[in-house]
Amino acid sequence: MLRELAHEFAQDSIRPHAKHWDDANEFPMDVIAEAHGLGLTNLHVPEEYGGMGMGIADEVLVTEEFAWGDPGFSTAAYSNGLTAGPVITGGTEEQKIEYLGRLTSAPKIASYCVTEPAAGSDVASIESLAVRDGDHYILNGEKMFITGAGHADWFFVLAFTDKSAGYKGMSSFIVESAWDGVELGKKESNMGQRASDTRGVLFDDVHVPVENLIGGREGNGWFNAMKAFDLSRPNVAAQAVGTSRAAFEHALQYSDERETFGKKLHRHQAIQFMLADMKTKIEASRLLTWRTAWEADNGIRNTESAAHAKRFAADSCMEITTDAVQIFGGYGYSEEYPVARLMRAAKVLQIYEGSSQIQRMIIGREMTRDL
Ligand SMILES: Cc1cc2nc3c(=O)[nH]c(=O)nc-3n(C[C@H](O)[C@H](O)[C@H](O)COP(=O)(O)OP(=O)(O)OC[C@H]3O[C@@H](n4cnc5c(N)ncnc54)[C@H](O)[C@@H]3O)c2cc1C
Repeated sequence: MLRELAHEFAQDSIRPHAKHWDDANEFPMDVIAEAHGLGLTNLHVPEEYGGMGMGIADEVLVTEEFAWGDPGFSTAAYSNGLTAGPVITGGTEEQKIEYLGRLTSAPKIASYCVTEPAAGSDVASIESLAVRDGDHYILNGEKMFITGAGHADWFFVLAFTDKSAGYKGMSSFIVESAWDGVELGKKESNMGQRASDTRGVLFDDVHVPVENLIGGREGNGWFNAMKAFDLSRPNVAAQAVGTSRAAFEHALQYSDERETFGKKLHRHQAIQFMLADMKTKIEASRLLTWRTAWEADNGIRNTESAAHAKRFAADSCMEITTDAVQIFGGYGYSEEYPVARLMRAAKVLQIYEGSSQIQRMIIGREMTRDL
């Protein structure tokens, strides 16, 4: 029922606007609010904080449908899922009531601020610094490529509180966007997923109350930031599945309409084999996604399975959307048809939330851990 509701929503409220959002670089706040009203957001936020109290396995079903509707919409809408993660797993009761409550009681956006201009994959080399000053921390730092930042009510921010302690000297904070010293950069002009908002955020002597140190403890920022990925990467994998499925369906339909050399495109074995490989990759990606989501919901460490799912689904999505453009031929290269937009959208799935190279590093580290 949840999947059906999400599919109908994607069909009726997301797809019809996808091209416009992408062309106009427009953030779909009104449709995110509609999804919020239907209970299709904040799915893994516990009920006591106003969320739906569901699991990651439920969430990935919705994410796949949102991405099928428009990958940019799904990224824009999922910023809250990623950002709520470290508060759910590491926040104090007061932080959960206040900041998860803000997301569940109204359609508000929260953004996850880890990446910096000189530090993306190598998170340990961030430079943001928070220095304790009485009952506040003075936060300084520059964050880069932050999803949803232009519309955010609050940010999860990773910064050092003790640079000499390496990654164990990192702490995480909840920072409200309205506070003095928070400055937004301009919206990036991205290759794809242009409905989503991506921009830099500058923290210039921001006074952060000690109550907003996540978990009330210095030194657990790295753990908080990384733990969130075990819950969010299944959703990025699901985005890849939804995007791939959309491209596949368009290509299959087009191959039934277009004829060359006297027969339908899919009657040429070379095209049929491309479609067959696309479908196998989608099935495999979805099963990897469901497996890691199920592990996350059942208390099984899913760091490696999330990396398998994210890496394979994202790389497959890039291949599948590229093949969809190929099957459309010259029309595929035109923005008049949806497959070009899907191919542009696929690329970032191999880059954000840990690139495909970083997922392979995680898999390598996990599988050699006990050797
Ligand atoms: C649209 C978009 C939205 C984003 N949203 C957010 C967000 O909400 N919050 C946030 O904090 N960040 C966000 N990011 C940032 C994203 O997570 C980073 O861009 C990503 O982690 C890669 O970091 P980088 O861009 O600094 O690339 P780099 O780390 O400089 O890497 C460059 C290339 O080298 C490869 N590479 C790096 N190290 C190695 C290695 N050891 N071995 C092999 N290859 C390696 C990488 O895979 C990549 O291909 C977003 C980025 C984009 C584009």
